[in-house]
Amino acid sequence: MKPDVLGNTEPLPVFFLKPGQLFLNKHKPVQRVKIITILGSCISLILTNEKRGMAAMCHAFLPYCPAGENCRGNCQTPYKYVHCALQNMLHFFYKRGLRGKEIKVRLYGGSDMFVPDGEYEKTGKNPSVGRQNSELALTRIRAADLCLTDCETGGVSGRRILFFPHSGEIQVRRLKRITGEVY
Ligand SMILES: [Zn+2]
Repeated sequence: MKPDVLGNTEPLPVFFLKPGQLFLNKHKPVQRVKIITILGSCISLILTNEKRGMAAMCHAFLPYCPAGENCRGNCQTPYKYVHCALQNMLHFFYKRGLRGKEIKVRLYGGSDMFVPDGEYEKTGKNPSVGRQNSELALTRIRAADLCLTDCETGGVSGRRILFFPHSGEIQVRRLKRITGEVY
């Protein structure tokens, strides 16, 4: 096996992040693990602060939980919905005294699986769930003044995301269109 960027050669344990789940590493050393998630209209937010060894990743599938914008993150489904998921993830970073630009964020997913490409751009109507997810995430990222370093959203195909929290590396692969198994 080829050594990874940190010179390790043993195979990494794999963790498959399902919708509604959270991966969280609060301290150093950061876990050596390969996290895999498959996104269609869902989005994944990856928040990190290398100095503190903090890393968090969610897989959220709709913009708001039933409590809507009023949710303070105390609902039954803290990581299923973009609004409460980001709020809850940020809470862990805020508790460590980290604010705004100290928190690096990357955003993926939100594809428009069942909407013809370019439809929304042409008509400005009926944003797809994928678009609503990614636009809400971006709005909240800006409101919290986070450091957005990578963002790949939209399009008509799903994405397979690999995240290696110990090195911070991310690999994004586009999937073929129309994949029933993609959530
Ligand atoms: Zn909620």
